Amino acid sequence: MAGRNGAPSFVDVAATTFLARRRHHRRLRAAAVRGVTDADLAATPAPGDAERVPRLSVVVMIVGSRGDVQPFVPIGRRLAERHRVRIATHRDFRPMVEDAGLEFYPLAGDPHELMDYMVRTGGRIIPTHLGQIVEDVPKKRAMMAEILASTWRACTEPDPDRPDAPAFRADAIVANPPSSGHIHCAEALHVPLHMIFTMPWSPTSAFPHPFARIDPGRNRPVQNFLSYGLVDLLIWGGIGDLVNAFRQETLKLPPIAFDDGAPLLEDHQVPFTYLWPAALVPKPTDWGPDIDLANFIFHEQAHAYEPPSALRDFLAAGEAPIYVGFGSVRVEDPAAITRVILTALDEAGARGIVSEGWAHLGGEALPPSVFLIGDCPHDWLFPRCRAVCHHGGAGTTAAGLRAGLPTVVVPVFGDQFFWGQTVANAGAGPEPIPITRLDSATLAEAFKTCRQPPMRERARALGARLRETDGAELAVQSVYRHLPWQAMRCANDSGHLATVYCDTCGVRLCRECATTAHAGHPVHPYGYVDWSARPAHGLVAELGELLGDATRALQAGLGAIIPRGGAHRLR
Ligand SMILES: [Zn+2]
Ligand SMILES: [Zn+2]
Repeated sequence: MAGRNGAPSFVDVAATTFLARRRHHRRLRAAAVRGVTDADLAATPAPGDAERVPRLSVVVMIVGSRGDVQPFVPIGRRLAERHRVRIATHRDFRPMVEDAGLEFYPLAGDPHELMDYMVRTGGRIIPTHLGQIVEDVPKKRAMMAEILASTWRACTEPDPDRPDAPAFRADAIVANPPSSGHIHCAEALHVPLHMIFTMPWSPTSAFPHPFARIDPGRNRPVQNFLSYGLVDLLIWGGIGDLVNAFRQETLKLPPIAFDDGAPLLEDHQVPFTYLWPAALVPKPTDWGPDIDLANFIFHEQAHAYEPPSALRDFLAAGEAPIYVGFGSVRVEDPAAITRVILTALDEAGARGIVSEGWAHLGGEALPPSVFLIGDCPHDWLFPRCRAVCHHGGAGTTAAGLRAGLPTVVVPVFGDQFFWGQTVANAGAGPEPIPITRLDSATLAEAFKTCRQPPMRERARALGARLRETDGAELAVQSVYRHLPWQAMRCANDSGHLATVYCDTCGVRLCRECATTAHAGHPVHPYGYVDWSARPAHGLVAELGELLGDATRALQAGLGAIIPRGGAHRLR
């Protein structure tokens, strides 16, 4: 942060002041809106407290690829120990969800098409070529409108593909940010919302938004911070009209002003859990108590895997190999990449296991020191390797680090640059090599670096720390910690879910206790959370925001004792 001559520059001073004020402001808001302190949130729940929570119907909505959906399966299973849990995601993933014993609901959208679009736009939300605007955007927008509509059905309708499916109505929503309908459905239902994601999505000065195309290796706190608002704005600019149509036509909610749409999650301090460990990326100091870190969540498959004998023979025939694979990423010229990989392995004197994936890296005649592999569980294969080289997807990065392996990241788009830099910062791998700069000499050098004892030792130590905690368990604890239980429990029995408010007695009740113990008393439908408040804007924005917070604080404070809105607002 210092200028070349050691004295802080004007920009540095302005940046520091801006960020300090911002942090202070956020703490004030967090305290005012939620009425809780960091200490309250850090406190472990009393033993047995979790048993006294009402049984909820929880919808978990996820838009993304297989790697985005997988972590939610163990989370869903843990939540399902006490609640009815429905995983709402793309149709492709129904078997994965149902095989885990969880309920499924199909969201619209095709994960392959989403992935393809991301690659062709280089991870930018906004396409860069005119051709893409003409061809892709209407199609992408149509898909987004379908996804939005399906998020509401996921909260309120029975599974359309199972004729005998029971009715469903969400009492709480867990979601990843790309599922887009989350906060609007939560507003319509007056239910709590909890976000879970694998990559940073909350403004911080510590690192840039993974989609912002700012080099994560540079220390630029203000740019980092502003990149989150910028990405939010780009996304809102692209889909805001679709979201407002969804709100008005499907949810019967008023539209959102342009200024309010982009920072919606942040303005409401929606609780977030990020699925990486603090041992790898510590929680930034400008993230408030509404944000928790958990750990990576692993998709365990090794126990059920029977390796082909050719693979066993290859592994037994020499030194542990380097794994090279690009997961579900599509590359432009698979044959050229294959040649680069084979040459680099040869130059580094290393044996290799090369994964085909969707990238179809094969097709060349392979030397005996290289084995081409199809689907193989990472938790089986990686412990048998000496290093890994991949695209830097969150799931593959996590699997390599957990196995304690030095990691070479070749990022293609989106958060892969973030993970590549994170691995390098942790000393568990060389600097990432963007795929546009990939050549055999650079890759061979990276492979050689992975042989050096200090890097191997750091990777091994990091792996041991990642294995210490269970990411799914931490994520579920985080969800429980942020649920507004006080507002959700029946006054007669904290194990009942309150759905009405008795005017005569001034208490929240479940429907059954209201009819038995409060017969003849006037009751209102009861909502738990009011997501409809919007911050004020204008010339005195800071003051306006503080006033908005006071209003919300009042609502939050009163939320525990009076019903929200009228019956016309509640469904
Ligand atoms: Zn009563
Ligand atoms: Zn009750």
